[in-house]
Amino acid sequence: MRKKIVAANWKMNLTLAQGEQLVNDIIAAGIKLSEGQEVVIAPPFPYLIKVKQLIRNYPGIYLAAQNCYSEKSGAYTGEVSAEMLQSIGVDFVIIGHSERREYFSETNAQLAKKIDLALANGIKPIFCCGEPLEVRKAETQNAYVAQQLQESLYHLDAAALKNVVIAYEPIWAIGTGLTASAQQAQDMHAFIRSQIAEKFGREAALGITILYGGSAKPSNAKELFSSPDVDGGLIGGASLVAADFTAIVQSF
Ligand code: PEP
Repeated sequence: MRKKIVAANWKMNLTLAQGEQLVNDIIAAGIKLSEGQEVVIAPPFPYLIKVKQLIRNYPGIYLAAQNCYSEKSGAYTGEVSAEMLQSIGVDFVIIGHSERREYFSETNAQLAKKIDLALANGIKPIFCCGEPLEVRKAETQNAYVAQQLQESLYHLDAAALKNVVIAYEPIWAIGTGLTASAQQAQDMHAFIRSQIAEKFGREAALGITILYGGSAKPSNAKELFSSPDVDGGLIGGASLVAADFTAIVQSF
């Protein structure tokens, strides 16, 4: 059975004290995780060690970084390597979020290098893909997402792919209040799974966790997560409010 994951992407929000409070409130809510379900929290880099300490006694709650660099080490001022993340116990890393693609010009080829470094350091990449509005309007979203998968993931073998999570995040739905309909999400997730099956085989396709991201909130999470190929969510805005995030986690 593949893992079900709800991941919180705090982006560049919250002070350390606010972040601690948020994690403590999520823990205090006493969320009940069902079999195979995981919660992942992705705070900004400076809070990773603190959040690791806060969640350490709670099985099922994992730590993610929001990014890592595409080189192993060296003179890259301001960057953070996958090895550094591994050395502080980070479990997952978000790779290729659309904001990084847009504001920091990250390319599919660069993301492939980040994926390799994350995997080489025992960190599971949460690989984000998804189309902008003009692509959706032109109804060419499948080809667009297929290319993202091909250029960033298809150099892996099926064994390595087992440690990758995919997050489908239509850019037009991120932080906009617009959500893909449950049918739109299901259609794309099924398409992604079919692509994975074609390249890596049926077992790999059935085993890979595919998350939906884009204005997910307590009022729509249940419907989105009930689709057969949607294995959870990557949550931005609603992950900053403990009550909303815990309600989303309990929507499975
Ligand atoms: C995201 O940035 O990954 C995201 C899904 O954001 P939001 O939930 O705010 O749309």
